[in-house]
Amino acid sequence: MSESLVISGGMLAGHAGGQPLDLMIVDGVIAEIGPQGSLAGGGQVVDATDALVMPGFVDIQVHFRTPGGEDSEDIASGAAGAALGGVTACVMMPNTIPTIDNPTLVKEVLAVGRTSHCDIYTSAAITQARAGERLVDFDSLYAAGVRIFTDDGTVVDDAGLMREALLASARLPGCVISQHAEESGMVDGGVINEGVVSARLGLKGRPREAEAVIVDRDIQLAAETNGRYHVLHMSTSLAADLVREAKASGIRVTAEVTPQHLILTEEDVERLGTSGKMNPPLRTDTDVEALRACIFDGTVDAIATDHAPHSRESKDVSLSAAPPGMLGVETMASVIWTEFVAAGLMTLDRFVALLSTQPANVAGLVSQGQQLEVGKTANIAVFDPQDEWTPDQSSLQSKSANNPWIGKRLVGRVRHTICRGQLVVADRALL
Ligand SMILES: [Zn+2]
Repeated sequence: MSESLVISGGMLAGHAGGQPLDLMIVDGVIAEIGPQGSLAGGGQVVDATDALVMPGFVDIQVHFRTPGGEDSEDIASGAAGAALGGVTACVMMPNTIPTIDNPTLVKEVLAVGRTSHCDIYTSAAITQARAGERLVDFDSLYAAGVRIFTDDGTVVDDAGLMREALLASARLPGCVISQHAEESGMVDGGVINEGVVSARLGLKGRPREAEAVIVDRDIQLAAETNGRYHVLHMSTSLAADLVREAKASGIRVTAEVTPQHLILTEEDVERLGTSGKMNPPLRTDTDVEALRACIFDGTVDAIATDHAPHSRESKDVSLSAAPPGMLGVETMASVIWTEFVAAGLMTLDRFVALLSTQPANVAGLVSQGQQLEVGKTANIAVFDPQDEWTPDQSSLQSKSANNPWIGKRLVGRVRHTICRGQLVVADRALL
């Protein structure tokens, strides 16, 4: 008989009735669900008393820096933090050294991912070496398993190339073209959001309109080509209005937002220092308010972290000189729970949709983001909504420290994580 794992006595997301249940996993699949105490015996049991059992979280934008940047993060350290945060699948960005723009490198990265603490998927670049000149071979990358294409870190400036990429996405089922939407000329030399803080600090700003210019253009191209378009880390009310309108017109567009763009503003940059610098930058109160509305009205499909590690040395410089990006995959669920669910602003169902079901759909990850039902692959997060904690540098897995949430009191924490039926985190510790 196969070894079984029982998650005992938790409240299962998506199951009405309000009674704690047992969930049994056999051979990586949910084999049985029954009343609390009914399934224990025979196999390993993990305690889910007073906890919520949910589909594992899916982060569709992480930078795990493999290959070429392993001093700041690698797949093992990135995936370890993800697992502790209840994340059972990550989609890596291809702005590595070298760029992930060919099937050989895709296969190498995925092979490394198979030994890590969560499922690893990778996107690939839209243009070779992300140089914005020649397109990649979409068909061979698609055959290697890639579904998300992006030059993230930089925008695809050339509308002709973007049009060709969207045409490729129109003929490859499940394929999506994702854009880091900031018009190059407008943000050249820009450090933080163009506004009151950039003026106060005497820094060149990155205008909000730079995002809208690209999103507007790309939506027109998506409409014309019937391609699938995804806005990475959407940061402004301007882009949000464009995406909302495009969706209403039936154009195939999706969007994600990061926890930081939902919570922090340009006013936090001085407090956070270089950890508060990212692209697109932290914006204004108006933008935060608009993006918060988007996660409830369907304009935004997914919350994704843009987990972007940078070594302490590289961030220990001036705001102008520091590389953009902040950490987030390990704390995503707790930060969103604290800010929205514990605050009474969001339901459990919406939380699961934004952190699991919908990002899995955007990325075409069929074994992720599934309802907790018999026969489904067991990718599961057991989350204790009462567990209060404060992230500190020594307790986090990342090799880097550019984390805006260090020192923030958080409500809710992942207790256990199960990836493909394997217990990878038990009682808040990695296995
Ligand atoms: Zn980006």
